[in-house]
Amino acid sequence: MRIEAGVATDIGRVRERNEDSVLAEPPLFAVADGMGGHRGGAVASELALECVEELFKTGKASLGDMVRSANRAVFERSMADRAVTGMGTTLTVVTVDEDGAHLAHVGDSRAYLLRAGALRQLTDDHTLVNRMVQAGEITRSEADVHPHRNVLTRALGTEPEVDVDVEDVPVIDGDRVVLCSDGLTGMVSEPQIQAILEATPNPQEAADRLIKAANRAGGIDNITVVVLDVREGEGLAEGTAARSSSPIATRPSPDAIKRWSIRVAIALVCIVAAFFVVRISIDRQWYVGESSGRVAVFQGIPAEFAGLRLSHVVLETDISASDVAALPLYQGLPDGITANDRDEALAIVEQIRADVKAASGTTTP
Ligand code: MG
Repeated sequence: MRIEAGVATDIGRVRERNEDSVLAEPPLFAVADGMGGHRGGAVASELALECVEELFKTGKASLGDMVRSANRAVFERSMADRAVTGMGTTLTVVTVDEDGAHLAHVGDSRAYLLRAGALRQLTDDHTLVNRMVQAGEITRSEADVHPHRNVLTRALGTEPEVDVDVEDVPVIDGDRVVLCSDGLTGMVSEPQIQAILEATPNPQEAADRLIKAANRAGGIDNITVVVLDVREGEGLAEGTAARSSSPIATRPSPDAIKRWSIRVAIALVCIVAAFFVVRISIDRQWYVGESSGRVAVFQGIPAEFAGLRLSHVVLETDISASDVAALPLYQGLPDGITANDRDEALAIVEQIRADVKAASGTTTP
């Protein structure tokens, strides 16, 4: 598959600054719509995209983990810097490969698929009004004009953990995938968006025309649009390759040392955030193993990474590990006997205690 990309972001006609950010580093594309007083919104959306970009380059994280790590990075920054406390952002990320388009999403920015004359929204809006629509409390057209239509039920960076929607969408030659912030969808109806997309074959012109349409309709919010045309053929992508918060395509280039130190700092923040995400999932694991010659219950996994143990002792028992290892059933004890949760680990301990006593010829009390 080959991707032709068009990217545009605009401050709109009312706002004083553009807090949207956009990433176009083929095959990775993303839109983030930041929120929060002072400079918070722009900081949140830029940091989220930088984090996703850095982790994508490692080639090791899933799209969902990249977004969860970005969440952690924004959250930590928000906690650490009073100037940006409470900031958050939406984040809609897509990569395209031979298997199709892969999406990860939090918030009310959107991804659409235009195929064969039909425009389909690929993402769910994480908004109060969308929840009300799904519950049958209001109609979609009532939602469009609802006074609380901007209230998000999920955003990036406002909590230490976030649920991320992930989706894989098969794509075919001729498909058009669109990412946008609510500055477009709040101003321009879906039939109008579809009409502009269908009348404009060139993806960059299509993105520019959508921005113009939103501004003509009032431009009350920042507007960001990414148009991705899927073409059969070799090569990854052509078109714009840029990350920017306004205007599009080029970033100011500070001197090389400053730029590199910023990149290193961002990479460190993202790695720390990724560590927290891994740490949280590790802390959900339990096992029974050996500690100081005794049977013990551990939280984590029985392994080390870069010299760090990935578990800690929660409970050390009075059962001798060598007595247990002598029983054929428990020869795996030194490697750890895994459990689904703490209760199961404690149940394994009690079973071990009973089996040791039975084997030594005594009876359990
Ligand atoms: Mg917005």
